[in-house]
Amino acid sequence: MLINGHTKQLAIIGKPVEHSFSPQMHNFFSEITKNNYSYSAWETDSIEDAIKGIRAMNIRGVNVTAPYKKDVIQYLDDVDDTALLLGSVNTVVNSNGRLKGYNTDAEGFYRSLINAGINITGKNILVIGAGGAAQPAVMRFVQAKPKSITVVNRTKSKADKMRCDIFEKLGFDINTEFDAFANYDVVINTTSAGMTSSILPTVEIDGIDNLDFINSECAAADMIYNPPETLFLQTARKKGAKTINGLGMLIYQGIIAYELFTETNLPDDIYERVKEYLIKEKILR
Ligand code: NAP
Repeated sequence: MLINGHTKQLAIIGKPVEHSFSPQMHNFFSEITKNNYSYSAWETDSIEDAIKGIRAMNIRGVNVTAPYKKDVIQYLDDVDDTALLLGSVNTVVNSNGRLKGYNTDAEGFYRSLINAGINITGKNILVIGAGGAAQPAVMRFVQAKPKSITVVNRTKSKADKMRCDIFEKLGFDINTEFDAFANYDVVINTTSAGMTSSILPTVEIDGIDNLDFINSECAAADMIYNPPETLFLQTARKKGAKTINGLGMLIYQGIIAYELFTETNLPDDIYERVKEYLIKEKILR
């Protein structure tokens, strides 16, 4: 890829950012489309100064990661309706000096499920975890009209707060107690349990600590992609469930963001191509 005087700049900003695969993924997109963009990773201690820098240098766009997805909103000119509803921005596009925020995480996760043949519409959904990534995902599921959504969390008060927030914003009631008779069709781990240690995310939740309710009729998804198979996914697979990890979410949120940055459509087979590239280059295991 030739970088020249016309090259438009993109980046991921947050703290930390060195671990991110976004530079490799977005530069691959530019490589195959011949779009003249370059994507870097910039760590910052001040989201306010970073946004001023984007304006001053006329940077085309950035992805925003932890801990700034909420704080960044106050420094933008416009925020798309979904991101506003979620209170979380992970993509900022600079159009002639006006900065607009979007959230591509929840849509990315939803698309990864659909791509894997896992449907939400009309199904009973169990979400484990009530952190920053869970609420946007649940709000996207509500739009797909599931039969029911249950959110369980180690700290139950956070699931109860999410229930209030979602009911207030969308008028959809979610459950926060596990129901042994619910026949959950899709079980989703949104917790960070399993990232660094082999523990089940349900270990401290009464009645479901060992995931006995999962069977071959269920699908199980984990937002974690490293390690590729958490103990949660391994346990679900051994019970016969169809399983997917968080790699699809990572890739789809990037595809949607890139299309916003460049106002172009990536090829239909881009998901498979970028996944193959990331694995071949040993960027991912
Ligand atoms: P977060 O806001 O810090 O929330 C963490 C959640 O995990 C909380 O519900 C917390 O429960 C729970 N938890 C943490 N340790 C636990 C344990 N030992 N046992 C049971 N529950 C535990 O984090 P987040 O931003 O929501 O991210 C959650 C996960 O999603 C992370 O692993 C992150 O890497 C992943 N993620 C993936 C993608 C992707 O592109 N694939 C994108 C975003 C996030 P308490 O409330 O009880 O503390």
